[in-house]
Amino acid sequence: MKIGVLALQGDFYLHQKMLDRLGVEAAAVKTPQDLQGCRGLIIPGGESTTLVKLLKHIKLYEQIRVFNRDHPIFGTCAGAILVSSQVSNHPVEPLGLIDIAVERNAYGTQIDSFIDRIDFRAGDESVAVEGVFIRAPKIIRVGEGVRSIAFHKNDVVMVESERVLAATFHPELSESMVIHEYFLNKISG
Ligand code: GLN
Repeated sequence: MKIGVLALQGDFYLHQKMLDRLGVEAAAVKTPQDLQGCRGLIIPGGESTTLVKLLKHIKLYEQIRVFNRDHPIFGTCAGAILVSSQVSNHPVEPLGLIDIAVERNAYGTQIDSFIDRIDFRAGDESVAVEGVFIRAPKIIRVGEGVRSIAFHKNDVVMVESERVLAATFHPELSESMVIHEYFLNKISG
């Protein structure tokens, strides 16, 4: 199985490393052609304003929407902003792949970045996972048909729809592989 990782900006190589550890081929996606043969796509963190500009420039913006008709996409941090349908606080034009609204930089500036325990409740039981939040957005509205699957204090930090996962934290920066594993199961399941 081959999974694409958008490789324009940010720490995409750490997502590739994670997929590697899970025994899955990780393809760096830099052009629309690179999506060929991929069963899913990860959109990593970075700067959502820059990512949108780059995606449009290289004609991947529309192509990712088309790809998502048949394949799951996982957006983390800036990637979660990109897959959302509504963005506030210096808004960018999101891809609109999942019905959530997000607020950019909702915890403050770089010095307000933090690591804390989150509760991942996708299955029957709650699993404690480390959550790395770097100038993270907040999910401020969860639309119909979207399931909230991870929580930090009172905030929803990860959501799921039929073909989209979005997390406001950086699972690629933690040791635990459960979040990436969950995405792989979504693809093969
Ligand atoms: N603050 C960034 C943005 O709004 C996201 C930061 C990140 O991906 N770590 O795009």
